[in-house]
Amino acid sequence: MTLGNADGVPAFDRIRPEHAEPAIDEVLAHNRAQLEALLSAATDSPLPPTWDELVLARAWGPVVHLFAVTSTTAWRAAHNACLPKVTQYQVELSQNGDLFRGYQRLASGPTFANLSQARQKTIRDALRDFKLSGVGLPDDARARFGEIALRLSELSAKFQENVIDSAQAWSKHVTDEALVAGMTAQGKAAARAKAQAKSLDGYRLTLDFPSYDAVMSYADNRELRRELYEAYSTRASDQGPLAGRFDNGSLMDEMLRLRHEQARILGLKNYVEVSLATKMAKSSDEVERFLLDLNARARRPAQAELGELKSFAKKSGGPSDFQVWDFLYYGEMLKHHKLGFSEDELRPYLQAPEVIRGMFALVERIYGIQIEETRELATWHSDVTTYRLREANGTPIGLFYLDPYAREDKRSGAWMDECVGRRRSRESLQRPVAYLTCNFAPPLPGLPALLSHDEVLTLFHEFGHGLHHMLTHVDEAAVSGIRGVEWDAVELPSQFMENWCYEPNTLRGFARHWQTGAPLPDALLDKVVASRTFHAALATLRQVEFALFDLRLHRDYDPASGARILETLAEVRREVSILLPPTYNRMPNSFSHIFGGGYAAGYYSYKWAEVLSADAFAAFEESGFAVETGRRFRDTILAQGGSREALDLFVSFRGREASLEPFLKQTGLTA
Ligand code: ZN
Repeated sequence: MTLGNADGVPAFDRIRPEHAEPAIDEVLAHNRAQLEALLSAATDSPLPPTWDELVLARAWGPVVHLFAVTSTTAWRAAHNACLPKVTQYQVELSQNGDLFRGYQRLASGPTFANLSQARQKTIRDALRDFKLSGVGLPDDARARFGEIALRLSELSAKFQENVIDSAQAWSKHVTDEALVAGMTAQGKAAARAKAQAKSLDGYRLTLDFPSYDAVMSYADNRELRRELYEAYSTRASDQGPLAGRFDNGSLMDEMLRLRHEQARILGLKNYVEVSLATKMAKSSDEVERFLLDLNARARRPAQAELGELKSFAKKSGGPSDFQVWDFLYYGEMLKHHKLGFSEDELRPYLQAPEVIRGMFALVERIYGIQIEETRELATWHSDVTTYRLREANGTPIGLFYLDPYAREDKRSGAWMDECVGRRRSRESLQRPVAYLTCNFAPPLPGLPALLSHDEVLTLFHEFGHGLHHMLTHVDEAAVSGIRGVEWDAVELPSQFMENWCYEPNTLRGFARHWQTGAPLPDALLDKVVASRTFHAALATLRQVEFALFDLRLHRDYDPASGARILETLAEVRREVSILLPPTYNRMPNSFSHIFGGGYAAGYYSYKWAEVLSADAFAAFEESGFAVETGRRFRDTILAQGGSREALDLFVSFRGREASLEPFLKQTGLTA
């Protein structure tokens, strides 16, 4: 796979699925030879100089990325052909005893104290990760550990495939206009476009999130909402319309069993201990206490919110047996009634290009940088735009790709990923490059891409991750940007950015009516700000439910009884949930964060980091949004990456440890 140019980015217009496997084979062979040479040379250099080169991100990264944004059969096959080879190599590297001993020598050697903080942290992190990979174990235990790692990576990929395939296998074709009554003009237009793409009349309703949400929040027909809810909440399971066709049940059982076995091989009690070894939180008790505290605080306000919603629904001619598929629909109606505000009313003011421009203007101001579109780089799709980041004085910082709109073959959701990390070698400085991927409804003929406020939050969130990756000053690749950052602190810069979406001056900076050009009226702006605490306690309980389920599922695993997925979920729901879903609900089967991604025994990280981000934003409010606060946030947190512990960085920004108060205030949970 050729690296395109001076920016060190891939030539995206030329990479085809058939290039992936030969390129990976070549890189792996090269790396193995390099490693051998490195280890046979009697060296006591400050850091194994080619360590980072051995990590193969440059070849594997583009394959992972292109598979995500172009999930065709050919890319899936290419990705899956490489995955076991890459995992095998990673296991080998992480269990390489000679390399491990090299790091140990560095850590105990006389020069360690003279190394930069970033280098010291790189070495400490590496030693920790070697141990978490079973490097010091007897041969048979180490081999078993590696075997499990391979199998887990395969299971996780298959889990994701099932979630995607089950969602794509279901759709509902509607020709009766009356059935989609209540849906917004944009929601209907998108459903019509989907029907047209299949040469059908009428509307095609699908389970990708924008389409699902368009029905659940607005469709008047209760049975239609129930039908979509059932299909959505049973994806990849033994229930619902596609029962058993893409069932993730046995995959989850096996993953939980293998994760527990890995923990035991390492001499730890359970997988939570493995997970927390790389996080800020010290113990599963600490995490559970944190979550239960939120549960206790949110409980009464959430009951009040739900009580109000139910009686409002009844008064509006709704059902007396209020169900989960009524929640978003009457919630939207109540929001409109109480705040005089609906997403649909706001959307015309939130054109994607304007929001993006306003977001850039904000970070240019608070961080003293410049963002400029560049057309020099090849991309994988015509929707993708490339931007350069520079210091105010013109010094280059990095660049990023923005791929904002949904496409048929694109994986759903939104995420930031690194294309290239910042690193300095003897010869040169490689500047960081990021991918920002969203799935907004694309513009239609005569209609620009109009975002919901939630989608604006998503965009800001991912850009926050991107800035963390790009604004780093750290030269050691292993701890620059988001690398080496404790996972429960990594959502701090992203959730921090969300706060600006409720800040009046920021909103005014980009909200303009797409037809009239009129600015967002003050009355509507006030409503947006007020909407922040609307159903916030219910939303908190929902996150606590997910996090507590994830924690206990991994903590309480007992090999004698096997995974108790549905039982654990039911127990947590009895304790936390105040609106119980029907028994066919199979939320775990599509819980990609913990079974298809990196959040296993770590879903609590979102709430944990939200506390940090709310407190960080409070510093901006307290200073009257002084430019100095922005510079300090950039210098003490964003620039430092994973070169120091997250707690130390936070204290250096805030002058103290995080307080829960700003988070409670923000979510309206204070008495
Ligand atoms: Zn995030």
